[in-house]
Amino acid sequence: MKTVYIHENQLATAGELLANGGLVAFPTETVYGLGADARSDEAIRCIFEAKGRPTDNPLIVHVASFEQIYPLVLDVTAATKRLMVRFWPGPITLVFPKSKLVSNVVTAGMDTVAIRIPSHPWAHAILKHAQIPVAAPSANRSGSPSATTWQAVQQDLDQRIDAIVCGPPTDIGLESTVVDATGEHPRILRPGKITWEELVKVCPSIIPYSGHVDLENAVLNSPGLRHRHYQPRAHVTLVHGHLPGVNQEAWFIGLNKSSGTDSCSRCLYCDSVEDYSARLFDFFRQADDAGVRTIFCEEVNESGIGVALMDRLRRASQS
Ligand code: AMP
Ligand code: MG
Repeated sequence: MKTVYIHENQLATAGELLANGGLVAFPTETVYGLGADARSDEAIRCIFEAKGRPTDNPLIVHVASFEQIYPLVLDVTAATKRLMVRFWPGPITLVFPKSKLVSNVVTAGMDTVAIRIPSHPWAHAILKHAQIPVAAPSANRSGSPSATTWQAVQQDLDQRIDAIVCGPPTDIGLESTVVDATGEHPRILRPGKITWEELVKVCPSIIPYSGHVDLENAVLNSPGLRHRHYQPRAHVTLVHGHLPGVNQEAWFIGLNKSSGTDSCSRCLYCDSVEDYSARLFDFFRQADDAGVRTIFCEEVNESGIGVALMDRLRRASQS
């Protein structure tokens, strides 16, 4: 399959391709997404195939407006409504009981559907042109770091999908926060840019992200968390304060100069936890392109977006 490359003045074309059953990668404020018609079993199966994604890992459905949501869901709880009003459009995904309109392939057979209205102007324009609900997981091969640039999408999915929208690098660089507010106690299923500190102001009883990687039990709440994720080919080691040994072949990313970083062949010091989050996945990909064997990642405090960054770092470092 020949992949078409789409530019800013052709976003209507991207929308049309999606509406006609095509697979199109496009930028959002979190990471690049790989979109297809959420009502079509056939189009959705193509997403799983292009990514090599396990079919028990459900996808997030993206829409441009509140009105588009009601046909897709059976109910909107009061807590969910408050979250929609406060945080959409934006980097948070909410879980709803699904209607028949949503393909069972999207939800991996679950009776709930995860939905998001992205705030990125390009994503918004494409969804508006498409006029359909668009299921869009991260636009990378399954297991690899998410794509934060169109070149990363090209590297993973060229010749496997219909089109790639060549937008700017993504701002946030980590995937959306996922919240399930269908039950009595809203719960954070995946940490992201919208933090517990912000969510608790809207939902005082919200259950924080459990904070540890529990591959066995993750399936109960959010199947995607059970799978390997975010891993470069290089071995990732988390460090705090100092690096073990002499590491001439290794790369380092973090906030602070630590003892031992001098011996690394490349060091990337980030200005803030937000900056670190935005640059992490691209750094992983650059390290793989350079054939680096070891990446040291400095741990950060687990508050604010630090919870999300530490979650991704732990998953990347799992052997
Ligand atoms: P990705 O699109 O690759 O960022 O992954 C989507 C994430 O959303 C995965 O962690 C999924 O498990 C999660 N997800 C999708 N649908 C649901 C749902 N209905 N209930 C809970 N989590 C979901
Ligand atoms: Mg993903």
